[in-house]
Amino acid sequence: MKINGYTRTCGLIGNPVEHTMSPAIHNTLAEAMGENMVYVPFRVPENSVKEAVEGARALNLLGCNVTVPYKSAVLPYLTEIDSLAEKIGAVNTLVRTDNGFKGYNTDMPGLYRAMCEDGVKLTGEKVLILGAGGVARAVAMLLADKGAEKVYMLNRTVEKAEQVVNEVNAIAGRSFAEAMVLDDYRRLPGDRQYLCIQATNVGMFPKTEEAVIEDTDFYQKVHTGYDLIFNPAKTRFMELTQAAGGRAYNGLKMLLWQGIIAFELWTDKKVGAELAEKAYSAMKQAMHME
Ligand code: NAP
Repeated sequence: MKINGYTRTCGLIGNPVEHTMSPAIHNTLAEAMGENMVYVPFRVPENSVKEAVEGARALNLLGCNVTVPYKSAVLPYLTEIDSLAEKIGAVNTLVRTDNGFKGYNTDMPGLYRAMCEDGVKLTGEKVLILGAGGVARAVAMLLADKGAEKVYMLNRTVEKAEQVVNEVNAIAGRSFAEAMVLDDYRRLPGDRQYLCIQATNVGMFPKTEEAVIEDTDFYQKVHTGYDLIFNPAKTRFMELTQAAGGRAYNGLKMLLWQGIIAFELWTDKKVGAELAEKAYSAMKQAMHME
């Protein structure tokens, strides 16, 4: 990578940022596509997100990714918000405009792209979402958009799931989503009926031996388990799904595609399949998986 006076900078705003895989994705893509661009992490201290966005503009940054805990906190400082991001209520990508930054959410298009590649269908499906945090809410919006038949949102704190479900049903204009306490899976009808999207933090490194539901009966209900966690590459949730005869996937491809879609927004160029594979390898190498 040759850095000179024309080099443009993109970066990640978050806290912490030290374990990010995004530099591996973007610097690989920039180099392979001959873009004079460099991507670096920016750890932003608490209560400084406004200054970070203003600073990014003053320093002529081409764009930014935004991660935990600023995906919603950044919204008031943007000059424009894409309609999907507005519905989701969170952005993970900022794109420079003439007078500031426009916010996008590439997490959900990224997840959708990953699921399409993995042959996981959403239209007409019955879906279980485990969790009711920021990502679970966005997943419910995606499912509304793609025409899932029915969604059950199971969460430890049922009040949070109820609030999310009410919002999503109102935005979708149909009552397709229902909230449940985690343990209520016992009253879900039928076996092998459900796509289950794991959107809690349970099972993430270093607590890799945990799954949010341990009961093997639960996994009999699931034909496909999609864990949004990507570290470890094979979570306990995935092991339990496979042991019950289901297909299981992790969140690595979602991470890859949210990055590629952000890169395409910044550079106005399309990333082909071969290059996507190259970025995927770079990402796995950065995680010491290859
Ligand atoms: P969040 O807003 O903090 O929500 C966390 C969720 O996990 C809540 O529903 C919480 O339940 C539940 N939870 C946490 N600890 C639990 C426990 N011990 N038992 C039962 N439930 C528990 O987090 P988020 O931002 O939505 O992120 C969720 C997941 O998505 C994370 O694992 C993250 O790694 C993953 N993610 C993946 C990608 C990707 O590109 N693959 C991108 C973004 C996020 P309560 O409401 O009861 O607290």
